[in-house]
Amino acid sequence: MGYCPECGASYEPAVAACPRCRVILNPDPPVESGEPVIVHRVPDAAAGALLCGILENNDIRTVLRTATLPGYGTVRRDWATSAWGEIMVAPDDAAEARAIIADYLQALERGGEVRDEDVEGVEPGTEA
Ligand SMILES: [Zn+2]
Repeated sequence: MGYCPECGASYEPAVAACPRCRVILNPDPPVESGEPVIVHRVPDAAAGALLCGILENNDIRTVLRTATLPGYGTVRRDWATSAWGEIMVAPDDAAEARAIIADYLQALERGGEVRDEDVEGVEPGTEA
């Protein structure tokens, strides 16, 4: 099953995106604690995948919502921003997600570049 992260509707596995909201379906049911919130906008797919990977490594479930949808050609959502897409997380995880992204971007500015070792195999934390 696929679930629309925006309206919560469920669809057959063959359906890739919610035809009503035009967002890519999530394999997991929507978070019960509330609507996902946008924590960061990304300029391209690589940045989205990278940041989502970092958040996932910290046990934060992410939804990467994109402006360009497979199956819809090059249809773009009418956003006030030119961002390629946006990262959404559960409201409970929003503060932590923003902090993690801020830390990462800060390190990026400081260090100039990030090595693969810095983002792959990030420890999810010592707790739990
Ligand atoms: Zn929907």
